[in-house]
Amino acid sequence: MKNLLLKRMLVFLLILALLGGNACAESKPEAFIQGVDVSELLSQESSGVRYYDTDGRPADALTVLAASGVSHIRLRVWNDPFDAQGRGYGAGNINAERAAELSARAAKLGMKTLVDFHYSDFWADPSRQTAPKAWAGMSVDEKETALALYTKEALATILDAGGDVDMVQVGNETTTGMAGEYDLDNMARLIAAGCRAVREMAAERGREIMVCVHLTDLQNYGMISTILRQLEIRGADYDSVGLSYYPYWLSTLEVLSDDITAIRKDFRKEVFVAETAWPFTSADGDGAGNVVDYDPGMYPVTPAGQAQEWEDVCRTVAGAGGFGVFYWGGIWTPVGPNAAANLSLWETQGSGWATRFAHGYDPKVEDETGGCAWDNQAMFDFTGHPLLVLDTVRRLSENGIPSAQPHPVAEPTVPPAEEPAASPAEASNLVLNPGFEEPDVSMWKAFSEMAEIPYDIQDFVNDAHSGTKAFHFWSEKDMSFGVQQTVKGLSAGTYEASVWSQGGDMTDASMVLYVFADGQYYETSFMNTRWADWQHPVISEIPVASGSLTVGVKIKCGKKSWGTLDDFSVVMK
Ligand code: CA
Repeated sequence: MKNLLLKRMLVFLLILALLGGNACAESKPEAFIQGVDVSELLSQESSGVRYYDTDGRPADALTVLAASGVSHIRLRVWNDPFDAQGRGYGAGNINAERAAELSARAAKLGMKTLVDFHYSDFWADPSRQTAPKAWAGMSVDEKETALALYTKEALATILDAGGDVDMVQVGNETTTGMAGEYDLDNMARLIAAGCRAVREMAAERGREIMVCVHLTDLQNYGMISTILRQLEIRGADYDSVGLSYYPYWLSTLEVLSDDITAIRKDFRKEVFVAETAWPFTSADGDGAGNVVDYDPGMYPVTPAGQAQEWEDVCRTVAGAGGFGVFYWGGIWTPVGPNAAANLSLWETQGSGWATRFAHGYDPKVEDETGGCAWDNQAMFDFTGHPLLVLDTVRRLSENGIPSAQPHPVAEPTVPPAEEPAASPAEASNLVLNPGFEEPDVSMWKAFSEMAEIPYDIQDFVNDAHSGTKAFHFWSEKDMSFGVQQTVKGLSAGTYEASVWSQGGDMTDASMVLYVFADGQYYETSFMNTRWADWQHPVISEIPVASGSLTVGVKIKCGKKSWGTLDDFSVVMK
């Protein structure tokens, strides 16, 4: 922040304080910030991960986020996340140089950056705040100097590359310590030094940069206020407090709202949510188990539940006077479905949560390493297609965040047992469980000519024609398989059969809808084009006198083709 502006603000704050008014309003950003942490993106890309836009076309994930109304990316910065041989620790291997590359790309798309300094060579959170290797053995005084120097150098690297640095976090979830200092006063000294360094850098570059501290454990406001008091004592000069809000970890919207109100009142600082997320599925996408692999309640574990959580957090933060929310792990999708096949990518590209090269540095990475434990909480599905939550971001960014009362937490929604009859034709569909919504799928017979089964019943609303479930296929190998149902109890007459199909990346493919009836075989070919472009093959004029027919789809296609079948139909005409 420029000195002149700062002085004007201080006078303004003083007047407001004397009047008993709300001192926070002046420094709040004009528009509510919807941000996404993309720290893993370079490693994802070098692992071959692909993302798609809402039309199903391959796209840069940052472009998709920008088009959805995301205004800020968040990037953690580790001092030196590499071993002595230059092998990365994982989770993006993200140092200042790699953050600079991403920040510059985002700037070209109009997105600003929140730089999240961990002041560690790897993960920093309440369970560990390990000092960077280069600072090991330093006194607190020496660390103050090193931290300030590093902060300015790293910011210079990002700014020189063209990054649009708008906010800087001095430490990550610094509730137990920072940079190897676990004494509250020592931590406060280091944070104060980091804040000063950001201010100096902002002044040197003539930029306004919001200085932030980042805390968690919302349910313990006593601890939060103790830390913020200590920062006051040490003269830490910052603008805002970022909070981590994960509903499944001891937090509620009410507590979040209360904390925001209290921090603004007690410390006269702006507040934002630096991290939140919600799972869109309980399934795992890469063979490495997920952190939240259960149903926590509160919201459905569906794309709609994820979108609702985002909207509720935004509304709650806005309603309590906060100014923004950042989603965590938004682009951390699977590099592939199979852990054994993925391991070399995780190790060489740093696309998993930790590599074995972090052994010996991070005390939490002694026994296990691996893939992404967050793929079921990304904002893109397992195949890289944007989820409903990004539609919600777009809507909120276009319409603004209603700063009314917090939206109540939605009751888990259960898909209706039967789709409401929209037309007589749908009402007379004779196929049982035609859209795979019912748990009992025993009326369906699927068959594979491969050693491995390439299909499953998938619960993704974005890949379903109706409801949330569909018959889904994908494999790393060439596929040949099908699914069919024998429909019984038919009156003598003429029938019509159809199915809905979508998907893409189809190579060497044939897709056929077929019917057996009264000793006759009927078929019609169709082909998937891209995501959400629903094909609707129909076979008409099928005479049936024997009381039953069999309807099915058989598919042959090359490896990594994919798609879903949904809403089979057999109706009398
Ligand atoms: Ca996983």
